[in-house]
Amino acid sequence: MDVVAPRLWDGKGEGLVEDRVLLIRNGKIKGILPLEVYEPGPCPLLKLEGTLMPGLVDAHVHLSLDGKDFKQSIERWYPPQDMWRVITQELWDTLKAGVVAIRDGSDGLNWNLEAKKWVAAGQAVGPVVVATGRALRRKGYYGTFLGPGLERREEWEDLLKDQAAGGCDQVKIVLSGLITFRRYGEVGPVQFSLEELSWLVRRAHALGLKVMVHANGPQALEMALDAGVDSIEHGYFATEELLSRMAEQGVYWCPTVAAVINRLKVRKAEEYSPHQKDIIKRTCESQLGNMYKAHRIGVRMVLGTDAGAPGVYHGRSYGEEVNYFKEAGLDNLSILKAATSLGAACLGLKDLGTIEEGKSACFVELEGDPLADLQALKKINRVFYFQPIPCGYG
Ligand SMILES: [Zn+2]
Repeated sequence: MDVVAPRLWDGKGEGLVEDRVLLIRNGKIKGILPLEVYEPGPCPLLKLEGTLMPGLVDAHVHLSLDGKDFKQSIERWYPPQDMWRVITQELWDTLKAGVVAIRDGSDGLNWNLEAKKWVAAGQAVGPVVVATGRALRRKGYYGTFLGPGLERREEWEDLLKDQAAGGCDQVKIVLSGLITFRRYGEVGPVQFSLEELSWLVRRAHALGLKVMVHANGPQALEMALDAGVDSIEHGYFATEELLSRMAEQGVYWCPTVAAVINRLKVRKAEEYSPHQKDIIKRTCESQLGNMYKAHRIGVRMVLGTDAGAPGVYHGRSYGEEVNYFKEAGLDNLSILKAATSLGAACLGLKDLGTIEEGKSACFVELEGDPLADLQALKKINRVFYFQPIPCGYG
């Protein structure tokens, strides 16, 4: 297929280029030509009217949770007949929102790994799933739904090997607890010593698995940076010094704002006291402030919704997280890079994130110019998502 795009943003450049033709063969971009030198061949030709840009990347979701009711989501895991219907719908909703790749931040029954296999085998239509399987965590601490509670190094080592052999792409480590909303700045306890965490990261890297770590509060964040993790998830209550270290070390930061602020939008919000509501608001304000500081000093921020968390729905929450990045004060170009090229790099997906020769033909056509107005991301005409199956013209 040949695709004529009147306007194109490639995921890296500062502006749009006009009148390009993309030659798509076997699901890959074989060439990009100026329209004036293009000569139509035997391939089907598609003329677009909108702007073409790389497909979006959501660096943090949980397919095993629906974002509506946590308890019901978990109950649905057993027996699991319904999960195919639920997850395939979530995958479809995600793709329809223009998201062509997601990284799942674990679940205790490996649904994310199943979903990865369904999509890869063409059994489900959805974005590329970067799976982390079951999370590494310590027995008796936060995260029972994310992975088994383990206590000894041999057990963690076995889980790591199992994950690598089973097809996981990355490893999720639960380092701190959740934000408590009882007292401003209070988070659940740290689960590992620095020595244990460093060892886990080394073992994961030795098995070829990058490490995403759930960390809130200065203590956990400092430990994560000392241990050499690859990406920090949530990262609430970072100090300026810790943000500088993120920048220096090139660690990705996925600040997941919707996951906290949307708690005020769900039915259960009525259960929060005015004091707790105030803490949630202040927590998010401090996160937005830190995101702006991080942006100014060059931290590699990526866009992740934490879809599945209360009030964070698969697919449609992506636009909300984009708006929070905007509210933090980032410029449109930086936000769009976080949503495409940086996200793909964080997920280890070399074929996605930019529109370039040799990459996968996964992109979206929008009405309007997203660099001028991010609301264009909500006006998606088409999602191009070619499975790389050899079939003649692609
Ligand atoms: Zn999460």
